[in-house]
Amino acid sequence: MAENVLILGTGCAGLTAAIYAARAGLTPLVLEGGQPGGQLTTTSEVENFPGFIHGVDGNELITNMKGQAERFGAKFAWDRIDSVDFSGPIKKLKGGEATYEAKAVIIATGASPRFLGIPGEQEYYGGNGVTTCATCDGAFYRDVPVAVVGGGDSACEEALFLTRFASKVYLAHRRDTFRASEIMIQRVKNHAKIELVLNVTPKQILGGADGKVHTLEVVEKSGAVRALGVKCVFVAIGHVPNSQAFTPSLEVDAGGYFVAGANTVSTNIPGVFVAGDCSDHVYRQAITAAGMGCRAAIEAERWLAGL
Ligand code: NAP
Repeated sequence: MAENVLILGTGCAGLTAAIYAARAGLTPLVLEGGQPGGQLTTTSEVENFPGFIHGVDGNELITNMKGQAERFGAKFAWDRIDSVDFSGPIKKLKGGEATYEAKAVIIATGASPRFLGIPGEQEYYGGNGVTTCATCDGAFYRDVPVAVVGGGDSACEEALFLTRFASKVYLAHRRDTFRASEIMIQRVKNHAKIELVLNVTPKQILGGADGKVHTLEVVEKSGAVRALGVKCVFVAIGHVPNSQAFTPSLEVDAGGYFVAGANTVSTNIPGVFVAGDCSDHVYRQAITAAGMGCRAAIEAERWLAGL
């Protein structure tokens, strides 16, 4: 039998949608994909989610949201959707584990880390000195120099987090002004362990006979190549939306983000809604994703009521 609402994704957007849909008595089925819990599970302290004077641990916030959704009857399963058929009144979604049918669908699949695409990056990715997650891998690099690439909030946050372990943190950014918020920029600039390496383009990541990274080469504006001796390169240059499996049916913009209507969550297919970082290239905050998840669930509820 078709689900009332199928929710894809268990980041802030998906879980908030699950809480609202479950409280509305819709008993949603929520699919956890490749990164259960979403991006907050790869961050440490979340300082700007309202309601927590001293911040909250990202994993704790997500675990609480999931428990809250379960308390109201949301069901959870693991699968990743490969393709969809949104042509009929019942939406069909094919995953690796099963094919799902639902009257309404909320897509909250988030975004995945962007890579530099330079030599050595994929070769050393995953345990050998290239990573996209300081929270996950930072503790492996105690008392050694490391580099973070990027100039946004993620890069600054990663750099600051890494100062707990590393002997030195190079923050390599392609410009001399930052995209990050002012408070983060000031913290980074004032930290004794962080050296800013500005106006540089990452060229390649080199490793030794042990199969581990030892150098990040960057090209300065003058064309000179600078070799940064580091044991790990933390790539923090933003994310790409996880919209690929749905693009034949749903409209996306040039960056791959879902295009939504004026309410920010409706799509070109009635009964299919989007929420969070897969459709938001402007705000991309935990709280805005949660807000979109709430809207999507309310819209789905109204749409189902009108059937
Ligand atoms: P972002 O804001 O898009 O920043 C990406 C950074 O990577 C930019 O500085 C960009 O340089 C650089 N970059 C992109 N492609 C590059 C390439 N090929 N080579 C070298 N550098 C490259 O991404 P983000 O830092 O992940 O942040 C995403 C969103 O999450 C933002 O809205 C941010 O505010 C939010 N966030 C918030 C917090 C927090 O509040 N605690 C923490 C993390 C993230 P340019 O600047 O030159 O474009």
